[in-house]
Amino acid sequence: MSDASRDDHGPDGASGEGRGTATKIVHAGRDPRRFDGFVNTPVVRGSTVLYPNYDDLIHHRARYTYGRHGNPTSESLQVALTALEGGDGVVLTPSGLSAVTTALLAVAGSGDHVLVVDSVYRPTRNFCDGLFARLGVETTYYDPLIGAGIAALIRPNTKAIFLEAPGSQSFEMQDVPAIVAVAKARGITTLIDNTWATPVFFKPHAFGVDISIQSGTKYICGHADVSIGTISAIGSALGKVRSTYSALGMTVGPDDIALAARGLRTLAVRLAHHQKAGLEMAEWLAARPEVSRVLHPALPSDPGHAIWKRDFCGASGLFSLILKPVPEKAVAAFFDALTLFGMGYSWGGYESLAIPFDCKDYRTATRWEVEGPAVRVHIGLEDTADLKADLDQAFARMREVAAG
Ligand SMILES: *Cc1c(COP(=O)(O)O)cnc(C)c1O
Repeated sequence: MSDASRDDHGPDGASGEGRGTATKIVHAGRDPRRFDGFVNTPVVRGSTVLYPNYDDLIHHRARYTYGRHGNPTSESLQVALTALEGGDGVVLTPSGLSAVTTALLAVAGSGDHVLVVDSVYRPTRNFCDGLFARLGVETTYYDPLIGAGIAALIRPNTKAIFLEAPGSQSFEMQDVPAIVAVAKARGITTLIDNTWATPVFFKPHAFGVDISIQSGTKYICGHADVSIGTISAIGSALGKVRSTYSALGMTVGPDDIALAARGLRTLAVRLAHHQKAGLEMAEWLAARPEVSRVLHPALPSDPGHAIWKRDFCGASGLFSLILKPVPEKAVAAFFDALTLFGMGYSWGGYESLAIPFDCKDYRTATRWEVEGPAVRVHIGLEDTADLKADLDQAFARMREVAAG
């Protein structure tokens, strides 16, 4: 029997257990024998599932019961992601943000308190300050560098701690094991937005984190053509996530799931390139006269480097830089001169991107004070020599405009 067929499992299979991450990514969740030998799980479109007889219908005796509850296409991606995350199960949501909000709704309700990292993805913060607050959940933001000091922020009604490392845009690392230890001692659920590292470079469940969230829109999909979110959970958190998801009536279309699954199969090789090219570009940028510093935890000079090195096994292609002070019109000239780097939100696709950012207006537990304009870049799969040439001419344009 070939390796491929041995590793194929149905929905209950612990797919690829004991195998390497890249092998799991390629094999888990596929069952070609079930689909006449075709390598990929077909796109199954459907709402109604017909039962063969009355008895099976009234006892819900069927592998699939209704479109919204899952079909072979969604199940295939869920099994693959469960193998990759090393958790007990995965729920798919229509976007990364809906994965965040569904997971938070699953773990806290009226009268509860949650702790959220101050460097969190901004729409997560908007949810906590908006709908979550309206439902009676109070949020306290904490300094990403807090570590075991988070114990001082815990109240009798604290139900969850929401982490994201490195921080969105600003790339602070967090001491995940120290925070998880505090949470575990008090029965508090931990959640992490792991979109930056993906479970290829950081495995939250191996560190005891209960819920691991990804915007699959980014690296899983990898081609800037799908919005999808994933929630992986262990233990009792999984049941809570599943019932909340089901109560909210969410579902993801099978075409989007198939595109995400297609992206997933090449995740390991794409990330290896994003890591290598990202580091090369980060080092090159750090040496540029226009750049004050680069925020990238895999650089030995980064304040979060020791933690990154201890807990993570790789770095993706997203990082930031702080420019030396220049007038805004020079920053605008830099961005407008870029030809290979696109200007736009989201990231994790095959293409390089650059955006300006400023966290000053919405931080509450920490202060964002930097010496110059901040730029976030995503290093795609282009030739790094071309990316350097593109940045080089954009910096030249920036200097020209700055010189007036
Ligand atoms: C993009 C992003 C999200 C939201 O994902 P969408 O699919 O765009 O909803 C959540 N968290 C992080 C860290 C992100 O970068």
